[in-house]
Amino acid sequence: MALDDIYKEVILDHYKSPRNKRELPGAELSCTRNNPLCGDEITVFVHQQDGRVAGVSFQGAGCSISQSSASMMTEAVQGRSLAEALSLASDFRGMMAGEVDPDEEEFGDLIALKGVVKYPIRIKCAVLAWDVLQEALQGAGEATASAPHEA
Ligand code: ZN
Repeated sequence: MALDDIYKEVILDHYKSPRNKRELPGAELSCTRNNPLCGDEITVFVHQQDGRVAGVSFQGAGCSISQSSASMMTEAVQGRSLAEALSLASDFRGMMAGEVDPDEEEFGDLIALKGVVKYPIRIKCAVLAWDVLQEALQGAGEATASAPHEA
């Protein structure tokens, strides 16, 4: 099987059997955004604990690229520190801009979306979930700043 076909399989698998597609009771952070170009909509829920992504889920509707990217995103950031999650978001955006050569170990299934770079109109679909995640996590920074920890 050609690499492109393997990537397509991975994307379709996440689209047909999305991971962590549900509401997340107790999520402190959530954000909804849409991509009017394609009609995609994604809500991301994050439960943070001790500066880590202790729980993450999404809900949404739209094309296979947007929904599979959201599914992969939840798997990729689960358990990471908030800083690592934001750094992965930045690397993912870099990959979609053709600027970052992704590390397969770090990216896992996300690497399957690399082929979307060839279809500029779909890039927004692929990064939507990450935009929403980033916006949700930025709320976390503000929350932390207003409640400093005692040393
Ligand atoms: Zn789309």
